[in-house]
Amino acid sequence: MNVTSATEVKYLKGVGPQRAALFASRGIYTVADLLLYLPFRYEDRIRFNRIEEIAPGGTYTIHGTVADEGIARFSRGRGAIFHLVIRDSTGTLACRFFHGGYLQGRFRIGQAMVVHGKADLDPRRPGRIEMINPQYELLGADAADSTEMGRIVPIYEAIDNLSSRVLRRIIYGALQNLFAAPLDALPASLLARYDFPARGDALRFVHFPPSDVPLELLNQFRSPAHRRLIFEELFLYQLSLALRRKEVERHPGISFRVREPRVREALKRILPFKPTDAQKRVLAEIAADLEKPTSMHRLLQGDVGSGKTIVALEAATIVIENGYQAALMAPTEILAVQHFLSARRVFAASGYNVELLISGLKAQQKQGVLERMRAGEAQFVVGTHALLEEPAGFTRLGLVIVDEQHRFGVLQRKRLMEKGVAPDVLVMTATPIPRTLALTLYGDLDVSVIDQMPPGRTPIETRWSAPEHLPGVWDFVARELRKGRQAYVVYPVIEQSKSNEAQLSLKSAIVEYERLQKSVFPRMRVGLLHGRMKSEEKEQAMETFRRGDLQILVSTTVIEVGVDVPNATIMVIEHAERFGLSQLHQLRGRIGRGAEKSTCLLIAPQNVSEDARERLETMVATNDGFVIAEADLRLRGPGEFFGTRQHGSLGFHIANPLRDRELLELARREAFLLLENPEEEQERLRLFQTLDPGWQRRYQLASVG
Ligand code: ADP
Ligand code: MG
Repeated sequence: MNVTSATEVKYLKGVGPQRAALFASRGIYTVADLLLYLPFRYEDRIRFNRIEEIAPGGTYTIHGTVADEGIARFSRGRGAIFHLVIRDSTGTLACRFFHGGYLQGRFRIGQAMVVHGKADLDPRRPGRIEMINPQYELLGADAADSTEMGRIVPIYEAIDNLSSRVLRRIIYGALQNLFAAPLDALPASLLARYDFPARGDALRFVHFPPSDVPLELLNQFRSPAHRRLIFEELFLYQLSLALRRKEVERHPGISFRVREPRVREALKRILPFKPTDAQKRVLAEIAADLEKPTSMHRLLQGDVGSGKTIVALEAATIVIENGYQAALMAPTEILAVQHFLSARRVFAASGYNVELLISGLKAQQKQGVLERMRAGEAQFVVGTHALLEEPAGFTRLGLVIVDEQHRFGVLQRKRLMEKGVAPDVLVMTATPIPRTLALTLYGDLDVSVIDQMPPGRTPIETRWSAPEHLPGVWDFVARELRKGRQAYVVYPVIEQSKSNEAQLSLKSAIVEYERLQKSVFPRMRVGLLHGRMKSEEKEQAMETFRRGDLQILVSTTVIEVGVDVPNATIMVIEHAERFGLSQLHQLRGRIGRGAEKSTCLLIAPQNVSEDARERLETMVATNDGFVIAEADLRLRGPGEFFGTRQHGSLGFHIANPLRDRELLELARREAFLLLENPEEEQERLRLFQTLDPGWQRRYQLASVG
């Protein structure tokens, strides 16, 4: 059978309707899709390790037969442990699979198999070596099967019950019968410049590499074939961003007047302090964008507390002075309310009409706001995602500001933009993103960075204390409160959940609030703030704390973003090991906002997991948001880092923006170059024809500014 890249997988040998459905669940419909399902690891099955040479700590691949198997059950919710013993001519090796009940009946004594994993000392039997949860593959009766033995073998992530072994055969078959080389999306000039193999060759290579390629190179995705495929993916992605960028530039936007004396005076009027040089520079960049007849699409990055808000309000001032409306979208009601209050304060002298739109408003109030928005009377509207809902509309929306961007999905951003005619867009993020990832996620945005803190800040001191030392911690807090300071105490959960075993042992905001007020700080005024309180209650608690009428605010992560009370200088975070690194940094950003010295106390036991230790130690070691973002990214990987919603739109098959920084930069340069160069017009046309709809769908989503 002749196969081309367009052949549907359901016509491949070994694939029936059921398997085709499994493939479809991973977006694999055609051979072209299938060939992009790359092995995540390679195993050398030419030279196996011998069981006798295994030492603890090493990683080994063993070829042997099943010598024994069985199952042991444990109570305390640990599930079953499956035992397997494998034998080769030099000895036997014990393997244990936790939660391995499903493995029962899968192995026959004497059956040939390969296991791969890390060897450890068996804690129960000194001197004995075992493998925990190794990867394994049962071998077919036909031991000479060329796909699974005697070569470097590709290991694929199973798709439900489509095991690595089955996938390998299907892909092998497809490659064997591949009639024509798949279209090469990369321009020939690029291939030559970087010495990249042709697409077809690269695909064959990454699935079934020749035996003389160093395993390391393959496993690190660093072979020329891997690099070419990674580059291709990043290049096409960047090209779509570049295209989108061009498209935006073609559409006429609003050209705001920024130089008129009236505008300058309005800008001066709102400044409550002398802006930092970084703030001035960034405002100049924004003002230049606003002045241009094309729409602004700019990402404003700055660490927590660097003073992004005032810059956003200055941008709004320009827009409002030009007779347009501006909107600011915040991710939480608390933050929206806070922005609303500070905007009203800042704009008081200018006499702008500032409105708040959140779902917690009374129906009548809301109606009023919506009417004033539609009538164009509402000049600055602050809100949550309520701004996105159907009835919200503007007459002359000139600027959309999105705060704490990474909490909004790209589609939400797009919806807000569509409420105006080509409005300018300013996206603000307090989680500084390393440049490479900014390029990936917001490749069609210009980036401004506030890389300087307002003057007079004393760096925050961060300490890690064990729960046993809490009494001392509370003594310290009490001393600071007596000096007139205020404190946050943060808990990971609102209340204990009986249904969730993992949360049962966690202290909760509600319980600890009562306990702290009653037994620890009876003479202090303690308040409570969490996400399940009504909007009014939340507002009330925040406002009382802001006024200084509360000395301690017990809270959950709802205070993570934006809350700004300069007199609060103490933060205690209990169960600090439970929080992500960026989250801890955001939380800590609530203090250190005034001239007084601030202290952050992370409460966590000494014996935490390796990752948790690294998070806590990073927090203690640095206040630099960029360093923290890099560490967080490294610890969690880009998918987790951005939350699943963003990850879906990142959706690379092969590339990993973190690992492949250097190729990403290269791809970006080449993609933008191609669009700049009119002589490459033909090349470009050809290229876009090769972009299949799947790619295009993904890029559209990923590149919404
Ligand atoms: P973020 O970048 O985290 O949004 P904010 O805009 O909330 O930071 O600013 C943090 C605090 O610093 C606010 O209280 C703000 O009024 C103050 N601030 C901002 N810029 C300056 C400045 N140039 N000089 C003095 N204080 C400033
Ligand atoms: Mg902010």
